[in-house]
Amino acid sequence: MSRFRLYPTPVQAQQMLLHCAHARYVWNLAVEQHTHWRPGRRSAPGFAEQCRQLTEARRENEWLGAGNADVQQQALKDFAAARNARFTSGFGEPTWRRKHVHEGFRVIGSDRVPEFEPDGSPKLNAKGKQVMGRSVVVQRLNRRWAQVKVPGCGWVRFRLSRAELPAAKTFRVTFRNGQWHIAFAVVPEPIDAPATGEVIGIDRGVTITAALSDGRKLNCPQLTVKERARIRKHERRAARAPRGSEAKVAEHAKVARLKAREANRRKDWCEQTSTMLARSYGLVRFEKLNIKNMTRSAKGTVEQPGTNVRQKAGLNRGILAQGWGLLRQRTEQKAPGRVEDVAAPFTSLRCSACGWIEKKSRKSQADFVCVSCGFTCNADENASINVAAGQGGIPRPRQTAGAGGVTAAASCSSAREPQPAWIGIPLF
Ligand SMILES: [Zn+2]
Repeated sequence: MSRFRLYPTPVQAQQMLLHCAHARYVWNLAVEQHTHWRPGRRSAPGFAEQCRQLTEARRENEWLGAGNADVQQQALKDFAAARNARFTSGFGEPTWRRKHVHEGFRVIGSDRVPEFEPDGSPKLNAKGKQVMGRSVVVQRLNRRWAQVKVPGCGWVRFRLSRAELPAAKTFRVTFRNGQWHIAFAVVPEPIDAPATGEVIGIDRGVTITAALSDGRKLNCPQLTVKERARIRKHERRAARAPRGSEAKVAEHAKVARLKAREANRRKDWCEQTSTMLARSYGLVRFEKLNIKNMTRSAKGTVEQPGTNVRQKAGLNRGILAQGWGLLRQRTEQKAPGRVEDVAAPFTSLRCSACGWIEKKSRKSQADFVCVSCGFTCNADENASINVAAGQGGIPRPRQTAGAGGVTAAASCSSAREPQPAWIGIPLF
């Protein structure tokens, strides 16, 4: 993905907001069709049927008909892709899109370009004719600025923050926190592995974002203490401003801008770190995490309220602020086939020198002292060495009773991952 800041004129911004509204309306209709389904009812319409219905709806609904058909059809295509990937994407079923929150639309390029096979020969169809693909229309204005054709808006300028113009089939425009962005659908070019074939293990944590097995500790930049204090100040002012006032909107906008800054820093760090990993190591091993399970709320239900809800919420914020998932995804794209997942249990309790797994070896969040051989190391580094060796830990053997029965595992095990309650959580 290559993403740039978009600078539309006020007229163009108005038109693009209308595109966002149309895309959201069509998406939500599709969500509604699919939530209506119950066992025994006819299955919800697929993409082709939905496109046919869209044409009908455009004829009857004046507001929808005045919009751009391509933008609306791409929203349906996005929905179909999201629904097909619902078991693998980690996001589950596509859900409702809300005004002010999910503002965006996809545009398919209007330029026709010949397509080529991977070996460089022209792509031919069954009749031997050249296959034509789509390409977005982009033009360079000068060293710093370029412009892109957006349907209904003409040329829209964007800040060219990298040397070369992006070449893509589609792009997505988003409006978030008062800023417009354009993201071209480009998968980053694979980076060649170094000849050394070195293996690196990465342990992702909250206190140290990524501990490498060569002893380096990389930290994802977050907001400074001052910036966090400013967020709290503006949140407080927003809460005290009278309902519906201009001041309230303005204070919320200031909060949003600061939060956007944090997200930008995190994304930038992930891009730079993943490029560094792909460029300098032959094989990158991540410990396997289930971030969705890790960040599951501890809130519980009304009948059975959870315990340590605030602490868990703080830990969740800590986990989500680290960008673990994005780092893994980007590294995979830049180093295809050179990224592995290593099962995570006991990596933090296993001694990387002798292999002994013991809870008591983990003296504190930071220190690891093996009770068996005395090996001393930083706890995160120890875990990353285990990951580099491809050893997550061995599953505990079943304790079988002599008469063929199975005894329950002892309630207090010496080999249990440290639980979040007593890890140092940056509560902010
Ligand atoms: Zn040891």
